[in-house]
Amino acid sequence: METHIILLVGSILLSGGCIGLMIVRLTNPFFQGVGWLGASFASGALAAVVFAVVVDQGKGFLLLVADALILLAFVLLHVCFLELSESESIVPRLGIALLIAQVLSYFFYLHAHELRQLSAVTLGLLVAVQASESALLLKNTNQKGMDAPVWFNIALLLGFAAFNLVRSAIVLVVGTSASPQLPNPLQATAAVVFLGAGIGLGFGVFWMGGHQIRQKLEHLASIDPLTGIYNRRSFIALCEQELLRTSRSGEVFSLIMFDLDHFKKINDRYGHRAGDQVLCAVVEKLRNSVRNIDIVGRWGGEEFVALLPKANSDAALIVARRLRHHVDSIAMANPKMREIEGESAITITLSIGVATYFGHDPTITIHDLLHQCDSAMYQAKADGRNRIVAVDSQLALSH
Ligand code: GH3
Ligand code: MG
Ligand code: MG
Repeated sequence: METHIILLVGSILLSGGCIGLMIVRLTNPFFQGVGWLGASFASGALAAVVFAVVVDQGKGFLLLVADALILLAFVLLHVCFLELSESESIVPRLGIALLIAQVLSYFFYLHAHELRQLSAVTLGLLVAVQASESALLLKNTNQKGMDAPVWFNIALLLGFAAFNLVRSAIVLVVGTSASPQLPNPLQATAAVVFLGAGIGLGFGVFWMGGHQIRQKLEHLASIDPLTGIYNRRSFIALCEQELLRTSRSGEVFSLIMFDLDHFKKINDRYGHRAGDQVLCAVVEKLRNSVRNIDIVGRWGGEEFVALLPKANSDAALIVARRLRHHVDSIAMANPKMREIEGESAITITLSIGVATYFGHDPTITIHDLLHQCDSAMYQAKADGRNRIVAVDSQLALSH
């Protein structure tokens, strides 16, 4: 097939893709990178049209425009990967330098007899550098659970870079044909590879973006929006995993559940916003009171939970006491509460329930353990609040 027909068909495909991508961009703000991919397709589509015009004759200026548009398409694709990788800056520094180098090189070659050959070699090298930078970026910023789409894109980018290096070497040795009568397999192959790479990478970006959206939604569905810790549903799921693990290994673990005492009064006296701030401060103290391996969650309202793997009831009681001690200072640090109360101390107190699982008990479920913990917490309330009640499957203790 003649090269310019391949180019025109490619241009139509890329233009259609670009319109589709822009629609996705406008209708789905969650989809990272898709707008830049659309811009890259637009640049590629335009380049294909210009190439189709100049393919048979080595017209100087148009050749530069077509080459620059091709390189720009890959620079824009790199910006798309920067956005998808959630990089701090999406400025393609190397890409801009490559574009400047390309324009300057053109003026350098302008009067050279082998303009066409030199520009093809230069484009091949610059595009290979840009594609390699994108592959490196993806390798370094690979996000959890995205291996398949990321490696798909890396393989395509490196394959494309390798093709361009080989093509540049061939052009350097053999030269390009400028005659419309002579079939030029290298030119036609290059057109197919460029279009194929563009469409393949477009698919790869969609694959990555789709994964990213799913991960974000899963994250949103598992996290409490106010405090940023696990919500009840995901906390229970994590507890279930722990019970399964420990019922095989025979290890112990403990659960802590606590409720803020008379929290309604805090809302009533200082406002809902101050109440929210107190809840966030309590979560910060909770995080500081547990180990890295412990898991914390919001049970609902002003009730929180913690799962302490490998902790027996003594270890869990130490954590519970540390937590009570830490929350002491919250009210004094809150600007609204200080404004109203001045230096007169008000303390936030907790009613805490602790339950411990001793392993090797196939009859017990996570709901039984959570229920024990909840009952212990209500026992602490009933006993006068601001205290810890611990139960385990063998004995019940009050502290
Ligand atoms: P008790 O000692 O018996 O636990 O008394 P309490 O006032 O803490 O308990 P109660 O169940 O009567 O009130 C809980 C309050 O917690 C009422 C509710 O408005 C408040 N609350 C629940 N979730 C939030 C929240 O996200 N933000 C704020 N500011 N308040 C909340
Ligand atoms: Mg309460
Ligand atoms: Mg409550």
